[in-house]
Amino acid sequence: MIIFYICIFFIGAALASFINATLYRIEKEFKWKALLTQNSHCEECGHTLSWIDLLPVLGFLINKGKCKYCNAKVNIYYPISEFVLGIIFLFFFLYAVPFYMYVVILFLFILSTYDIKELGIPKDLTHIFLALCLIIFIFTFDVTKIYFPIAIGIFLILLNIFKKSFGLGDILIILGLGVLISKEQFIIFFWLSIIIALLYSILFMIRKKIDIKKAKVPMVPFLSIAFVIAIIYGEVLWGHILKLLQM
Ligand SMILES: [Zn+2]
Repeated sequence: MIIFYICIFFIGAALASFINATLYRIEKEFKWKALLTQNSHCEECGHTLSWIDLLPVLGFLINKGKCKYCNAKVNIYYPISEFVLGIIFLFFFLYAVPFYMYVVILFLFILSTYDIKELGIPKDLTHIFLALCLIIFIFTFDVTKIYFPIAIGIFLILLNIFKKSFGLGDILIILGLGVLISKEQFIIFFWLSIIIALLYSILFMIRKKIDIKKAKVPMVPFLSIAFVIAIIYGEVLWGHILKLLQM
């Protein structure tokens, strides 16, 4: 069974690695054919990488975070993101999360990568994501899921008009994710993402010594992490919170 779990982890990690490489190639304006067929090579020395170097997470550990041909440091973002997606896949599997959530999380991974690199997400991708969420919502129809995210969405858009705290892209993503989960999960998801983003901003502010209002924070990675926690533990956490409130 352990081997099976390890396989699930590596499917997630390998998909992260594939998405990272593809987005990198799109950014560097590779031709469409080369996007999928060309061998991976070191960004510094151009040496073609062996299959061991390309193993998600493990390649980084085996080579101690460096290119073994030219000693250039590998960006720590890659192994961390591969590890995170691997762990998410494993948890989804252990908690029997519906299959469509894997698709949603892969899409969130792409959006997060954009947000981390460019502090913004392409509009087209956001719209496709929203459409995907609505399609899933229609196929898993549950009318109780829709009112709450819409109410929050209107609230956020109004808040955005008066005070620019969220980007419109972030609001659309919150709306899309909102229709996929229960009301209890949504409350946990929403507040957790704000708490995590706030903690990050405070740490960022202390480290870089800048004003919190000027700190630009990518929101999608925090939304994604909060969403995963809400899917798996949302109902349980909500139960605990209710108990605390009754005491
Ligand atoms: Zn190299």
